[in-house]
Amino acid sequence: MNNTPKYIVDGFGRVHDYLRISLTERCNLRCFYCMPEEGIELRDKSEFMTSEEVLFIAKKYVELGVKKIRLTGGEPLIKKNAEELIRELGKLPVELSITTNAILVNQFIDVFKEAGIKAINVSLDSLKTDKIDDISRRNYGDRILSNINLLIDNGFKVKVNAVVMKGVNDNEIIDFIEWTKDKAITVRFIEFMPFGGNKWSWDKKITQQQMLDKVYNFYPKANVVDIESKPNDTAVNFHIKGYKGSFGIISTLTNPFCKTCNRIRLTADGKIKNCLFSNDETNLLSSLRKGDDIVPLMISSIQNKKKERAGITSFNDVESEGIFLKNRSMTTIGG
Ligand code: SAM
Ligand code: SF4
Repeated sequence: MNNTPKYIVDGFGRVHDYLRISLTERCNLRCFYCMPEEGIELRDKSEFMTSEEVLFIAKKYVELGVKKIRLTGGEPLIKKNAEELIRELGKLPVELSITTNAILVNQFIDVFKEAGIKAINVSLDSLKTDKIDDISRRNYGDRILSNINLLIDNGFKVKVNAVVMKGVNDNEIIDFIEWTKDKAITVRFIEFMPFGGNKWSWDKKITQQQMLDKVYNFYPKANVVDIESKPNDTAVNFHIKGYKGSFGIISTLTNPFCKTCNRIRLTADGKIKNCLFSNDETNLLSSLRKGDDIVPLMISSIQNKKKERAGITSFNDVESEGIFLKNRSMTTIGG
């Protein structure tokens, strides 16, 4: 008899059926909130999952009930042979999606379609090319904006993720919402989170409430319509009456969405992180390479998951800042 459980469930009864796979730690941008200025330590490529290993592990997760896979990074589209891997993952019985900085998406439109990808998340922190370039320390602002239009024109559902930072782009919240007037796009404002080397400090954060204050100061309350959340949603969502698109706020810091968390994170070096904020990792890749059965590890890593934010109870003091900053940089976790 096969005793393998059908689902991955943690100690709080949360079924984990959403896998986020980081395909690479590397990136063609250097967004200052994500990537340390000096870049990340370059490691030998043998330390990272090959496409075959990614596919093997993904299949195991699907056998354990995973229904959704998101590819992320670093920048997932710079992984060698990304086209082939995306096509193969597209054959699995899952909803496949991707989070990208959009620099290369013009080369992937057909691959996305063949793989059955319908929704794409793009990071974009400003609507002004010079500011995009300042934040990302590179010069791809124009290409990113035109590739977002290309995705929309090709029928993809596009969600734009903007990390909101005080004094950097918090003055663009209304511009972003106005962008949704004629574009069927969803903009999600993300609270700036602390990670290793990302120059985070409490005074740069803009909370969900501060973002909403800006919205309600600009729009009449009756025009700001709540959109009902779906199970496992990480954002609270709204749209402005009559606008084609919508907007949301992801507030991991001030209003965490841990209660309904269903996420498993697999890093590019093959480690399971059971929470974005956890410093504990389970090395799946080394077990796989030793020839061990990885299923028990896949299950136990989630069973050990803490109730909320890896056990960190408060985000309101400077002491906790130190804990977060010990975490990997975001480019090595995958968001
Ligand atoms: N390169 C891809 C991209 O930028 O979309 C995928 C990887 S990126 C690490 C995934 C997401 O993490 C992006 O939406 C990015 O905005 C978000 N992110 C990175 N650093 C962050 C931080 N310090 N606080 C909040 N979100 C962050
Ligand atoms: Fe690269 Fe995405 Fe991080 Fe920007 S947010 S540095 S695009 S991984």
